[in-house]
Formats: sequence, structure tokens, C-alpha cells
Amino acid sequence: MTNKSGLSAVSILLLILIIAIPGLIYYLLEWEKPQAALDADLTIIGQKKEVAVTFTDARSGIRDFKVTIVQNQSEFGVASMDLPGKGTFEKTVNLQIEPKKLGINDGQAVLKIEVRDFSPLKNSASLELPVVIDTVVPRVSLLTRAHNVNPGGTCLAVYSVNKKVEKSGVECGGRFFQGYPASGGAATVYVCYFAVPRDVNRSTLMAVSVEDAAGNRAGVSIPFYIRTAHKFRDDTVSVGPEFVKGKAAQFEQADSRLGGRLPEETFRHLNTTLREENNAKISSICSVSDSKQLWDGSSFIRMPNTATMALFGDRRTYRYQGMDMGASVHLGIDLASTRADFVPAANSGIVVYADDLGIYGNTVIIDHGQGIFTLYAHLSSMTVSAGQQVMRGVVIGNTGSTGFAGGDHLHFSVIVGGEFVNPIEWWDAHWIRDNVTSKLELIPM
Ligand SMILES: [Zn+2]
Repeated sequence: MTNKSGLSAVSILLLILIIAIPGLIYYLLEWEKPQAALDADLTIIGQKKEVAVTFTDARSGIRDFKVTIVQNQSEFGVASMDLPGKGTFEKTVNLQIEPKKLGINDGQAVLKIEVRDFSPLKNSASLELPVVIDTVVPRVSLLTRAHNVNPGGTCLAVYSVNKKVEKSGVECGGRFFQGYPASGGAATVYVCYFAVPRDVNRSTLMAVSVEDAAGNRAGVSIPFYIRTAHKFRDDTVSVGPEFVKGKAAQFEQADSRLGGRLPEETFRHLNTTLREENNAKISSICSVSDSKQLWDGSSFIRMPNTATMALFGDRRTYRYQGMDMGASVHLGIDLASTRADFVPAANSGIVVYADDLGIYGNTVIIDHGQGIFTLYAHLSSMTVSAGQQVMRGVVIGNTGSTGFAGGDHLHFSVIVGGEFVNPIEWWDAHWIRDNVTSKLELIPM
């Protein structure tokens, strides 16, 4: 009995040791592989590519790593490092890959990342990413020569690019305006309508800028001439208690969140915060446009038999009983006619918005393609809906005083690439001829 139980105690101990020792060895030796990960997808490398790679190893830490590019059995070193000792569990390295400097040709290649840890087993991991090397910088040629601009107006640049690009357009006054392909072939010709800042001056930056899929960038500056030193008007609009209280009540009824304040506070909120929010919404609606020209090439219709009440760019400060009720720039032209007069579509296009739009009231926005939009505000009724195609001159609704309007009128805006511009130019057949049509004739067909 004792022998038997003694034997079994020894065998149990042996059994424990048989299981535990390899377990201990297994525990002391580290088998887990280190890891390497890139911070972005990498499929194409241009003249200069910056990418970060993070190496991790949770147990002994990173021993060394090596990044190379392999092309036709040749290996080109990008980066490598031997770490001085154990304990670096994570290391991020910013790689700057410049294929030409490394002697790599354009074409297929493999980016190889290898890493080893400090385990006596020297566990390793390697990552192999097939990439395309493309160091051909796009070449931009500006086809338009005359860029005679008005402050707050529109300008058209036509340019060609010798290779396919991901991003193309004009940088102007700190904003980027998208270009649209006008014709293909060996070189792609682009048109780009862009807004000229209201405070344009000779040092304003205007340049075509393109970038291909590999991140190769090119640009060419646009020579321009400022036609008029236009001064925008400064206006003080005195408003009476009826208008202030009436508008406050009207908006409070539509939006309960506005309640609980004094009428003048609500009025100031409408004229400042809500106005900015509404302008940002319009800008966002007008940031996506049809890539084709949808308007027919003729001048935009100015609603007939109307008187101009307020101009584009007027800086208006509202005053009420000596109080400043907020200042804003008028981003359209106000046209007054008889009550509920018919409003025609200024040109052909697609209705992208027909709904209430805060201070603008019932609003219709038409996309004329390639970033050009027209907006019709304060309508009493709308006879079109979003998605509908409209022809130049077709009735889209009736004038009214919805939104932040003092009386029945049409507020008409033109928006280019998300920026409000002076509509006057687009009403002028001469301006269209000199600044648009004649330039579009430069496009090879
Ligand atoms: Zn207006």
C-alpha cells in the first residue's frame, strides 16, 4: 500500500515535471513574433513618399529592423536599425522614400519590411507590399491667357495636364476650387471656375495646382489683371420694433429652441449665428456639382421687370434703438417686383435644393455644372423639387418674404465652387463672351 502510494507520488511529481519543464522553457523562451504596421495604405510611391511604420513586440522588445525596396532581384535599402538592448516594445519610424535618390526605376517593386525581437529564438516577421513606383511629375499648361478679374467676381482658367491626376484645380485666396475635365486624349484639358476674393489685390495667390495618385504635385501661377478697384458699400439698416418683433416671433414659432429670449436677442441670433450656419449649409450643398456644363452658354437671366434693392458685397449693419444687431455681407442681389411674381431659372441645370433654408426662407438652388450654382431665396412658393432638370427661363416659383425678409422680393445668388460671387457678371452677355465662351473655345475637341 505504502509502496504503491509512494510510487504514485513520485510518478505524479515526474508527471508534473514532464509537463512543467517544457512549459517553463516555453514560458522563458519567447515564441511570439514581433509586428510591423504602416499608418496608411501604400500601393503607389511618387517622387517622395512619407509613411510611418510602427514595430511592436510585447515580450523582449525589438532587436532590429530593415526596410528595403526590391526591384528586379535588386535590393535597395530604405531604413534599418539595431536597437541597443532589450525593452523597446514599440517603435515608430517615419520613412521618407525617394525612389530616384535610391536608384529605383519607375514600375513594379516590392516594399519589404523585416523585424526581429530580442528572444534567443530571434523571432522575425516580414511584410511584403507590392507597390508601383511613379516619379513622373505632371506637367501643367495654362491655355487661357487673359484673366481680367473683378473683386468678388468669377474667373475661368483652362489648362491641360499631360498625365492622369487625382486632384486638379485652382488655389485662390486661400481656397481650393475643383477643376473639371473638359476633354480627354493624350492630355486632359480641365476647366476651373473660381471665385475672386472681394479684397483681391496684386499679391493674391492664384495658381493651378494638380496632384497625381503617387502624390507628385505640380502647379503654375495664373497671371491676372484687376479690372476695377471696386468698393463695396457700407450700409446701416435701421430696423423698427415691428420688424424685430415680427421676425423673432416668426422664427420662434418655427424653432422652439429659439424661444425664451428677448426679441432683439433672437433677431441678433438670426442675423449672425443662423446666417453663418445657413451660408455654411449652402456652401456644402454647392460643393458637389455635375462634372458637365449644364447651362446653355447664354447669359443668365436677370428676373425681368424688377428693381435692384441691394447689391452683392454690401456690408450691412442692422441697428435697432441704438443697438448693434449684427453686421453681415450681402451675398446676393435683391430684386423687387410685384407681389408673388414668377421667378425664372436663370439658366439650365438640375435643381439640387428646394426647401426651407433658415434666414433664406423657401429656397431653390440649381446646379449648372462644373461648380456653378444659382440660388433663389424668400420664395412664397416653389414649383420645382430636388433632382428635377430645368431649362433656362422655366418658372421655378414665386417671390415672397419667407425667412429673414422685410418685404416681397427675390434674393438671387450665384455660387462658384462653394463661394458666393457677384451675379452681375453672369447676367452680362459680353462678360460671358469675353471671359467664358471665348476661353472654352480653346479646348481641343
Ligand atoms: Zn438679399
